[in-house]
Amino acid sequence: MKLPKQTNRFCPYCRKHTLHKITQAKKRTRGTAHPLSRGSKFRIHKRGEDRGIGNHGRYSKPPKPKMTGKKQSKKTDLRYECSVCKKQHMQRKGIRVKKVEFTQ
Ligand SMILES: [Zn+2]
Repeated sequence: MKLPKQTNRFCPYCRKHTLHKITQAKKRTRGTAHPLSRGSKFRIHKRGEDRGIGNHGRYSKPPKPKMTGKKQSKKTDLRYECSVCKKQHMQRKGIRVKKVEFTQ
């Protein structure tokens, strides 16, 4: 998908349409976005001493995989930076694209 580097968009801070710079942010995985969430604390607990009894609610055999193959495209994660107040806001909804290109 080809995108312009700058567009006119509504800025919720200035409450009017201003020039915005578009940048593509890297999609973070859940582990990097929430480094000390419940799941990661639990994983640390499983590795350490005093691990408790049993299999932590797991089965002895791994589940059969249902989804096959990798997705070919990723959802866009665009950030819009207002040129007046320099605040950034995110896009409402990402669309699946293989590649994001900026023209000029
Ligand atoms: Zn603004």
